Amino acid sequence: LNNKVSLFKIDRLLNWAQANSLWYFQTGTACCADEVINSAGSRYDLERFGCLPQNDPSQADLLLLRGFISEKLADDVLAIYHEMREPRFVMAVGACACGGGLFSKKENYALKDPIQNRIPIDVFVPGCPPRPETIMEGLLKLQEKIRDH
Ligand code: SF4
Repeated sequence: LNNKVSLFKIDRLLNWAQANSLWYFQTGTACCADEVINSAGSRYDLERFGCLPQNDPSQADLLLLRGFISEKLADDVLAIYHEMREPRFVMAVGACACGGGLFSKKENYALKDPIQNRIPIDVFVPGCPPRPETIMEGLLKLQEKIRDH
């Protein structure tokens, strides 16, 4: 019983550490990118939540999808996702990344199979564009989800 209790505690500790050190890689294909950059700046300061930008997907455990992901771009985004270390998480930021947004009309040839059908998304952040406060709330929800896992 004691071993089970300590394993449970180690699990909780690891989840807590993971939730508070999310390093993110981002796709910045459209206007929502500005809002994430704004969130990372000194005014909103995502780093105080342990959230650091990374230029190499293999160093990241959080993928921030921003903007419209077209059919042509989807394969590259999938390759980035598979390059990331496990456990990995995905946050869709803005209406376009959440569901195609302005571009989601059926006749749009550039969006046959939305990225949401190919990558498991952990948190959807709504808005066009979402304000930095909304992005931070999405991040806090993701941290909560990881901690309670
Ligand atoms: S959700 Fe709005 S602000 Fe964000 S990328 Fe789409 S059109 Fe631009």
